[in-house]
Amino acid sequence: MIVVLKEKTEQSQLDNLITWLESMGLSIHASEGQNSRILGLIGDTSAVDIDLLKALEIVEDVKRIQEPYKNANRKFHPADSIIDVSGVKVGGGNFNIIAGPCSIETDEQICFVAQSVKDAGATMLRGGAFKPRTSPYSFQGLRDEGLKLLLKAKKATGLPVVTEIMDLSHIHLFEEVDVIQVGARNMQNFELLKEIGRLHKPVLLKRGLANTLQELLMSVEYIMAGGNNDVILCERGIRTFETATRNTLDISAIPMLKKMTHLPIFIDPSHAAGIASLVKPLSLAAVAAGADGLMIEVHNDPPHALCDGAQSLTPEAFKEVVETVNKIRPYACKY
Ligand code: PEP
Ligand code: MN
Repeated sequence: MIVVLKEKTEQSQLDNLITWLESMGLSIHASEGQNSRILGLIGDTSAVDIDLLKALEIVEDVKRIQEPYKNANRKFHPADSIIDVSGVKVGGGNFNIIAGPCSIETDEQICFVAQSVKDAGATMLRGGAFKPRTSPYSFQGLRDEGLKLLLKAKKATGLPVVTEIMDLSHIHLFEEVDVIQVGARNMQNFELLKEIGRLHKPVLLKRGLANTLQELLMSVEYIMAGGNNDVILCERGIRTFETATRNTLDISAIPMLKKMTHLPIFIDPSHAAGIASLVKPLSLAAVAAGADGLMIEVHNDPPHALCDGAQSLTPEAFKEVVETVNKIRPYACKY
């Protein structure tokens, strides 16, 4: 980190600043230019409050040289992380598809969809039991009953299951869940992230609707700082001025995140587009750009789905997407 000081700085003020910075365990390298004085801060600056420094009377500007995320940073961990999801390898050249309905609705529905997506090539099953809905009057999910049905489908198919947690108080219900999903709306629920960081269970962290990639990686840092390194990232579309699609899929998040982090990156084209016919083109784009996996919503009867029917594929359409994805996988970008 570099601190540029204002031209007229009293020595006593500078001494106070240096003493304060040194008390944080940093070494200070001061240099004098013709018109400015610069302090180079050497050591772990991740706990330094950059805004507080900038607000000091004698400080002109502060620049971070190193990213504030450490555990997720590719610089300190050049090799791709490979995450073991109950025997399924994720990342590091392994390609996976998570598929299933937006919400678990009935025993028949989840078991039928689970078997169909497995037959088509999905390697993990998704299904929401606790649903974050914009309206309190919309279907909120079957909650603990839904989790039981999802675990039944897991037993029947052998597919690891991915489902979303919305509140800390539900954590005890997720023991047999293979991957805990933290949804876009909870990406910055730091207390939830800290608690999940203490678990020994893979996490799928979705990017928030209006969050930068650095913010996503700082949220990852909350989980990894607690000792849980098994984090899968998921880009699911962000808010832009465009209204023709539900969100805007940020394809550049794939090559950027590949530079920034060693963790696997999935793309969710269903929530990005909000329109079933867009799921195939967006999936192909994501795979070509080098995503480690996809998360796709599939429903046995999309027009009658209790949640997100417009973006859900039928099992037949899903099978076709998987077949086409497999054709282009050999040409995908590698990092
Ligand atoms: C979901 O995957 O069911 C979901 C609600 O996604 P998101 O958090 O991306 O909106
Ligand atoms: Mn959904």
